Amino acid sequence: MKDTAKHQGLRNQLVKVLQEKGITDKNVLEAIRKIPRHLFLNSSFEDYAYQDKAFPIGAGQTISQPYTVAFQTQLLEIKKDYKILEIGTGSGYQTAVLCLMGAKVFSIERQNELFKQTSALLPKLGIRPKHLTFGDGYKGLPGFAPFDGVIVTAGAPYVPQALMAQLKIGGRLVIPIGDDVQVMTLFIRKNETQFEKHELGEFRFVPLLEDKN
Ligand code: SAH
Repeated sequence: MKDTAKHQGLRNQLVKVLQEKGITDKNVLEAIRKIPRHLFLNSSFEDYAYQDKAFPIGAGQTISQPYTVAFQTQLLEIKKDYKILEIGTGSGYQTAVLCLMGAKVFSIERQNELFKQTSALLPKLGIRPKHLTFGDGYKGLPGFAPFDGVIVTAGAPYVPQALMAQLKIGGRLVIPIGDDVQVMTLFIRKNETQFEKHELGEFRFVPLLEDKN
């Protein structure tokens, strides 16, 4: 697993692209500048890893586009030691961004193959989330709640109640909602019962799958 000066150069260019597209959070940009995204992809995509695009990662899933990762992460307004719940570990790239920003990351993945692959990869890269789980993201992780932030990295047909319930007061839930196209939605918890809602444009994700049994 190699990370070269050429990769670093491509990452610097990617960071510029993200800045041009409106990403301003310095800690997000710094994390993207450091993380070797090519190592989260199958080696056949190595040459493309620093384009601002999504790519297949196996099990019919995709690694999110860097712009989408940056946009969602920026909305979380991460501070060091924030407890963040991620739904859809996938390749682990988003997980790595959150870890590098100093968050304590709890992440759930429902595809066992991806769960195993990513659980093995992250420690090799020196990235240590607090907790990786194989399971159903609709349920969240009640045993570790409440969270300062929750980020859903798959398109949700509706907002899972459990994820709202597991947010701290003042906490932020970032979730793309919709079927074919999703509206990026930010909920900020005001108190026990009230959430402020912001809709922030259209994105496309693989679906957040629900087990109907
Ligand atoms: N954050 C990932 C994005 C992966 S795509 C990355 O940067 O690579 C979305 C992921 O959500 C897929 O891996 C998919 O298997 C997972 N997913 C879909 N439905 C889920 C559910 N109900 N619970 C947990 N993960 C789910």
